[in-house]
Amino acid sequence: MSGIYIHIPFCKQACSYCDFYFLTRDKLRQPFVEALLSEINSYGDTKFSKEIVRTIYLGGGTPSLLNNKQLESIFGALHSVFDIDAEEITMELNPDDVTRDYLSMIQDLGVNRASMGVQSFDKKLLEFMHRAHNPEEAFSALEALQKTGFPTFTADLIYGNPGQSVETLEQDIDKLLSFDPPHISAYSLTVEPKTRLGKQVELGRIDPPDDDRVSEQFDVVRTQLAAAGIEQYEVSNFSKPGKEAVHNSNYWKHENYIGFGPSAHSFWWDESGANRWQNEANLKKYLNEAPEDYREEEETLSKNTLAEERLMLGLRTKWGVSEIDLKQSYGYSFTDSQWQWIEDQVEKGFMVTENSTLKMTSDGLKISDHLIVELLS
Ligand code: SF4
Repeated sequence: MSGIYIHIPFCKQACSYCDFYFLTRDKLRQPFVEALLSEINSYGDTKFSKEIVRTIYLGGGTPSLLNNKQLESIFGALHSVFDIDAEEITMELNPDDVTRDYLSMIQDLGVNRASMGVQSFDKKLLEFMHRAHNPEEAFSALEALQKTGFPTFTADLIYGNPGQSVETLEQDIDKLLSFDPPHISAYSLTVEPKTRLGKQVELGRIDPPDDDRVSEQFDVVRTQLAAAGIEQYEVSNFSKPGKEAVHNSNYWKHENYIGFGPSAHSFWWDESGANRWQNEANLKKYLNEAPEDYREEEETLSKNTLAEERLMLGLRTKWGVSEIDLKQSYGYSFTDSQWQWIEDQVEKGFMVTENSTLKMTSDGLKISDHLIVELLS
């Protein structure tokens, strides 16, 4: 079983905090789709096309900038090359692109999970983040999801913005909850050096988000969502029971996936070993060169590296990591000093061990990155 990720590298404008790979030149969309079809076809009749595909994720960038014909050709190519029996097909959508007709169209193509980039309903915050949509568009996109009876959806929310108050955040959450979302991804705004926000912080024009305030806002998110039956299952992800994202959860469990488009990663683990590779984040190369020329060198991962990754990713989730799985799949066991450290964390209330599974408590999840570094160092 495997997954497919497709990176659509176009956006209407650059959000101030974003460091994903994208361009704003709309004339290149059609040439990109053609190059993408070639890349998909290059996997025909290989070992990668033999495993059944259970999840597909269209991310970016902004996949909702593609039209019906373009999406139809992409899904057509996927179906002709891969054996697809997908339980989840997610597509990221920006509110300003969404109409009921667009939603019906993507549903007809098989998309059964919409990922709506809401971020906030606050006009000033949306402008500060340089988002292309306004609050009215966020509302009408969510209404359209309800009216079309879209099978399931998730919405993104950002907290910890400079200038964002707890009250604005609470209002954002309330407004989002009024649409009864099955799943929410809530991210604290991070300041990346090469972004517009990063430059403003560097020039001293904006103060970076203060750690205590971010932590307070994280508590607000967690408490308010839990009260609505939407529980945290990963550091940034919250869902109603059974509505957890399958595609992303599979990354954390080292399931195989192939990534298409510039900057996309792939991971494949079979009897010949575990490998990861990436397409260069360079649309010009993607359009003009053959897949083997824009694919960066493959990295072969040792079992120990995989085990550490499994711990890093698994300990950020409510499922934690099973000691038995670590041993059976990766040949990895904790050392005596790691066990001692784990016992200390259990005493401090940051971790629990249940049926040989190690998990973070909700206090532990708040500082999970720090704890994981300590466990592995
Ligand atoms: S729409 Fe998404 S991918 Fe595009 S710039 Fe904004 S955050 Fe980045």
